[in-house]
Amino acid sequence: MTQVGHILTGIAIGTVFIPEKKEPRWRFIFFFIFSLLALIPDFRIKYWGHHRYFISHSIFINMIGILVVTLFLFSQKELFTKLGGWKVLLGGSLAWVSHLLLDTFYNHGKGLAMFWPFSDARLALPISWFSVVKNLPRPITWELIRILLIELAFYGTLLLVVIILKRTKIMQRIALRIF
Ligand SMILES: [Zn+2]
Repeated sequence: MTQVGHILTGIAIGTVFIPEKKEPRWRFIFFFIFSLLALIPDFRIKYWGHHRYFISHSIFINMIGILVVTLFLFSQKELFTKLGGWKVLLGGSLAWVSHLLLDTFYNHGKGLAMFWPFSDARLALPISWFSVVKNLPRPITWELIRILLIELAFYGTLLLVVIILKRTKIMQRIALRIF
């Protein structure tokens, strides 16, 4: 998936988990952080991202990352509460691992080897309209624009549906039934 799909999914998950009644500046930072969380496996840093795909896209390595952040937040009770507590921690973790799920949607059907170091198995859930962007760094081509617009339309619709469900309080009713 390109950044478009990942960012919109991060924002959609953030919409579900954002605490009520916070000022606009706080909400902006909140959604910015959720967008970043959904991009973590692709961060362009040494020994990470596409340089070390098997590490950065391993579900186990990312779970360790989430565990480290969780332990840090537990040691900073005031910060943890300020950020929104358990609800935001759960949402943030989902935004982070959503990256791996979205990367299994590529239509090349090769899937994602996300079980390193325990298995070479690949999870493939190909959706025919999600193409891979080749040739990095990317020249702007019609093919790239087409790929980005498809993701914008698909994940933009997902975000819109989540916002509508949230506004109409349907999600709260679903959550009440589950818990
Ligand atoms: Zn990725």
